[in-house]
Amino acid sequence: KRAIVWFRRDLRLADNPALCAALDGDFDTVVPVFIEAPDELGDEAPGGAQRVWQHFSLAALAADLEALGSRLIIRRGPSADALDRLIEESGATAVYWNRLYDPHTIERDKRVKAHLDDQSIETASFPAHLLYEPWTVSTRQNAPYKVFTPFWKAVRDRPVATPLAAPSELPAVWDRIGSESLDALGLLPDIRWDEGIREAWTPGEAGAHDRLDHFVDDVLGRYATDRDRPAVLGTSYLSPHLHWGEIGPRQVVHRVEEWLAEHGRDGDRADANTFLSEIGWREFAHHVLYHFPETPERPLDTRFESFPWSGDDEGLARWQRGTTGIPMVDAGMRELWATGYMHNRLRMTVASFLTKNLRVAWQHGERWFWDTLVDADLANNTLGWQWAAGCGADAAPFFRIFNPARQGERFDPDGHYVRRWVPELANLDAKHIHAPWAAPGKALADAGVVLGDTYPEPIVDLKASRREALAAFDQVKK
Ligand code: FAD
Repeated sequence: KRAIVWFRRDLRLADNPALCAALDGDFDTVVPVFIEAPDELGDEAPGGAQRVWQHFSLAALAADLEALGSRLIIRRGPSADALDRLIEESGATAVYWNRLYDPHTIERDKRVKAHLDDQSIETASFPAHLLYEPWTVSTRQNAPYKVFTPFWKAVRDRPVATPLAAPSELPAVWDRIGSESLDALGLLPDIRWDEGIREAWTPGEAGAHDRLDHFVDDVLGRYATDRDRPAVLGTSYLSPHLHWGEIGPRQVVHRVEEWLAEHGRDGDRADANTFLSEIGWREFAHHVLYHFPETPERPLDTRFESFPWSGDDEGLARWQRGTTGIPMVDAGMRELWATGYMHNRLRMTVASFLTKNLRVAWQHGERWFWDTLVDADLANNTLGWQWAAGCGADAAPFFRIFNPARQGERFDPDGHYVRRWVPELANLDAKHIHAPWAAPGKALADAGVVLGDTYPEPIVDLKASRREALAAFDQVKK
């Protein structure tokens, strides 16, 4: 008897319940397969930066499987057809996988399962991507949660299963079972815009564990304060690893709990709890997406369907390029372009700027992030954009509009973050770096800054555009 393990966004060997169940089952071999079928995911197919990640992550998984005596079989979709062929070639009687919760994937998996059931192939799916599956959490009225704090209160004390160990060896896959070459999938871009991503990250399970080790050993103890300072490495940088399932949330939580058991001081608990609540936001985002699958396109607060967005194409283009003349916004957008990542404080700032000061519809920002973030994740990105635009689950109230200059003064007080990503302003002193338009001529001249020449004039007046956004909001709020 043989089984197929269908890898998707669970590109890891440890804490992989589908793989473990197949290995524990009564099978003489287990065939690991990844099926490239972006068409099945519609608009949710990975964007450019994610595809780069996917390439290297698959390469890492293939090497890890080989090291244990197995092999990754890569096939092209449609998934049901690819599985049919592999079943025929291998004589497999079972297909196992780990569950995902995005609307297109759920629909595809249901179709594939029904197709396999029809042929009396055994199927089994497992929870690996989340701590709490979306249908296991509901309010007293048996409704989904729309507010984070009660959601988190309801789940945070539930026990988290101990992660499963990685197998120490794997059964061989016969040579006659062929695989598409990874390169032939064409995940890497023809024009090499991805060098910064390659330099900044190590996709794959080992890279994920290195990040977690570094974070727990050196950063977690100061997370509550440093997580908001974009100039320091104050967060875990686990988001793309979690998105591709190179590490699972149970492993992360388990590791944090071990650290707490070792350290156990009260102060540490605050840092750990703040971090765990961010993992909780990821759970919440998946809960909301599962229960409100229309939210990647439509506002959860339907009043915003009629919001008078500006349709400002030039504003959108300058936001994307990081040439708005607002240093914090430009720094964030350039970090994103260069590395496929943007610090959370900046994500909130640039999203507020786009949707409020430029009044560009949040879906445009969401799409840009989708294409450029290595951690682009339908659940987290949707929640983040609707939160920032003020139209989503537990969103910031619309009238709370981030002032990007003020954000810079508070969270990048020395200007290091802006200097790194906006080198035109590198010599401007910290006092003026977040609002060069208000700097005295001498300060600008000393720093070699000529507004409108070496660095753009601000694309909008922050105060006036804020007032206009509030007036537009008055139209929908009734
Ligand atoms: P840490 O602070 O170390 O947090 C640990 C983990 O918790 C993260 O890896 C992530 O999985 C989760 N997490 C943290 N904050 C959030 C949050 N607000 N919502 C959901 N999960 C969270 N995150 C993505 O993973 N993918 C996205 O596409 C994405 N788009 C966003 C868009 C906007 C407009 C905003 C405001 C936020 C978005 N986020 C997204 C959430 C957050 O910015 C990132 O998860 C975080 O910056 C990743 O860095 P980290 O791993 O170092 O985070």
